[in-house]
Amino acid sequence: MTNFETLGLSKPLLQAVEAEGYTTPTPVQEQSIPPLLAGRDVLGVAQTGTGKTAAFALPVLQIMSRNRPQGKRHIRALVLSPTRELAAQIDERFSAYSEHLDIRHKVIFGGVNQNPQVRALQKGLDVLVATPGRLLDLINQGHIDITNVEFFVLDEADRMLDMGFIRDIKKVLKLLPKKRQNLLFSATMPSSIADLAGSFLNNAVKVDITPKEVTVDRIDQKIMFLRKADKRRLLVKIIKQERVECGIVFTRTKHGANRLVKQLDQSGIAAAAIHGNKSQGARTKALAGFKNGSIPILVATDIASRGIDVDGVTHVFNYDLPNEPESYVHRIGRTARAGRTGIAYGFCDDSESGYLVGIQQLIGKEIPVDSSHEFHFIGAIPKPGQKAGKVKDPNAPKKQRNRNRSNRGGGRNNRQNSGSGGGQNNRNQGRNQGRSNRNGGNRSGNRNQSRNHRSGDN
Ligand code: AMP
Repeated sequence: MTNFETLGLSKPLLQAVEAEGYTTPTPVQEQSIPPLLAGRDVLGVAQTGTGKTAAFALPVLQIMSRNRPQGKRHIRALVLSPTRELAAQIDERFSAYSEHLDIRHKVIFGGVNQNPQVRALQKGLDVLVATPGRLLDLINQGHIDITNVEFFVLDEADRMLDMGFIRDIKKVLKLLPKKRQNLLFSATMPSSIADLAGSFLNNAVKVDITPKEVTVDRIDQKIMFLRKADKRRLLVKIIKQERVECGIVFTRTKHGANRLVKQLDQSGIAAAAIHGNKSQGARTKALAGFKNGSIPILVATDIASRGIDVDGVTHVFNYDLPNEPESYVHRIGRTARAGRTGIAYGFCDDSESGYLVGIQQLIGKEIPVDSSHEFHFIGAIPKPGQKAGKVKDPNAPKKQRNRNRSNRGGGRNNRQNSGSGGGQNNRNQGRNQGRSNRNGGNRSGNRNQSRNHRSGDN
């Protein structure tokens, strides 16, 4: 049987892995570590939760510690990550794995004062973990030199592209030296990622750990059909009945996450929200409380949750079903980590049945339905032959829908308001305006929020 020793890891790394309690390499580690140690580029199709951080960090650390250049330390490994949370967690893994090595590493990301980051950079580093914006910012200010990088890791490449980082990535690629080892990890492999990979990987070894193999087997998935208005009550009921002590609830919007935290609080359930509008301090505090068990429920939007590295999550609630099927797999992958089992509830209301169809197509099976609750609503069940995607509101005036087809801007506004009418007749216009105001802005603010919602930028 394969173990970390047979993969070719050195003593200090074996000690670190043992201290972490890892006994058997995960599939992505088994398949990536040997080619990386042999100097090959690797293209990994693997999501967070598969052990991919160790899959790239261990070999990179091993090769770096084989030969240490003379003189002042310089950045030899650059890891790019889309979100601050994920970047911080990768850095934390580097701490654990480099425990017995003379390696200095640091994470940098935006939204916080740059001075401590600059001071650490001035002292000299071997490994830099960064989000793209802050990296380029500090490069432009002359605080970072990446011209001697030997290892370039692009993590969560699909999410990077979703978040609009492609131009930043290209800028970084231009600044890197030609001779280097490249690693690209992505949960999915659409053609845009394949193209990006083709643009800078050299004869890469492809390691494909599809979500189906990884998580879905160990997760007990359930779909519950209900009305939107009943979601909160069902959530509270399950959390109380099953005495959930470590669960993540996913909402589609930041606003929805904040509101739900308040509602849970009113029901006597301690919860914290984590999303892109929260300050770094608030996010760190929420995550710390969740990790140490003082906050049993984390309410998260997709992007903020990326890479939340908490092993003991027993429950994942898809309070809103995601409009991107891949997000479903990422979300439920927050549970059943590190060999454990978990349960994932999906709440599907009548506007989300098309999302469920898309999710089931992606995972290649029907998710078992749990109708043994008092809120069961057959109107939310997908109709025979229903297509994947957004359900059109049958109550939306026909003329309105046609208008939107020829007017994308208006369409966006309409989608945000779930077909409440857009701006054609006065009553609806007033209603729209009211919602815009509640969202803290004017109509364009509302439109932006809708755009974020659609691209998953939350
Ligand atoms: P990652 O996909 O890198 O975010 O890792 C997911 C989780 O799995 C982290 O909590 C790691 O500490 C843990 N992990 C990584 N490799 C192993 C392993 N071989 N055995 C057990 N747990 C692991």
